[in-house]
Amino acid sequence: MKALSLDMGGSHIGCAVVEDQRILAKDSLPVTEAPGLAALLGPLAEMLHALLGSVGIAGADCAGMAIGFPGIVDFRTGTIHATLKKYDDARHMDLKEWCRSEFGLPLAMENDARMALLGEVSAGAARGFDDVTMMTLGTGIGGAALMHGKLVRGKHAQAGCLGGHLPVDFEGRLCACGNIGCAEAEAGGWAVPGIARGWPGFAQSALASPASFGFREIFNAAAEGDSVATAVRDRCIAVWASNAVANIHAYDPEVVVVGGGVMQSADLIIPRMQEHVNRHAWSGWGKPEVRAAALGNEAGLLGAVPLLREVLDGANF
Ligand SMILES: [Zn+2]
Repeated sequence: MKALSLDMGGSHIGCAVVEDQRILAKDSLPVTEAPGLAALLGPLAEMLHALLGSVGIAGADCAGMAIGFPGIVDFRTGTIHATLKKYDDARHMDLKEWCRSEFGLPLAMENDARMALLGEVSAGAARGFDDVTMMTLGTGIGGAALMHGKLVRGKHAQAGCLGGHLPVDFEGRLCACGNIGCAEAEAGGWAVPGIARGWPGFAQSALASPASFGFREIFNAAAEGDSVATAVRDRCIAVWASNAVANIHAYDPEVVVVGGGVMQSADLIIPRMQEHVNRHAWSGWGKPEVRAAALGNEAGLLGAVPLLREVLDGANF
């Protein structure tokens, strides 16, 4: 099965023509200061038509288009219920009509973390498993769960995808979602610089020099022996591990897949998370395996075919 696929990230939108478990052609559209989705539909259509042309096929050769969207999305109705300000105008747009008029194709939409999980199960780190949770460590912490081979969605399309908003500290920091002490508020990319700046001794840290910093700079400075960076890094890993246990207790997976740019340091992160899971997850059958995601930013794009198959199979919710 061939499909068009869009993965709507915060800084760029990934575009691809995919066939089953592989990408035939891909490109990405940079997104500058929150222009909203309406202004991007023209460039996106142009990019997708160019990708189709580059592999010598027409829209009609595809089964449909899939979009991974950063927000609460009801796959069953194609409705975007809530965003965290990214592409907020999409809630009021008829994207199904856009897809049909532009490409003659049906459209399926899902939460972006669920799409990444589908990709990793179909073609990546969780291939062959039916019970999987995924954590995506980025600006926020994405979550998704697969049970008995089906995405966990829930009555209001919110189940599973709020895994990063499971609280790890009821006296913790206020999260963008309104809750207190979410894993995302304690160790998401948007929160960590503020946490580091408040750390005792920050002024003497290598992190005090650059105007801005993120996980990459924190991990690099920690590797150089910077004590503040080391403490903040280790605290992040502990929060992620605690969040993994929460997801394990909620969704009973065999495998926990951890993705995101910070997985460049998977050799450090995964063993520590596994050790924490082995020690603290309550399990009567063994311990779930913590694995690094295998597909990077292609995971969401490769979720397209499994999602569209669900549509074509008559969507047994
Ligand atoms: Zn939250």
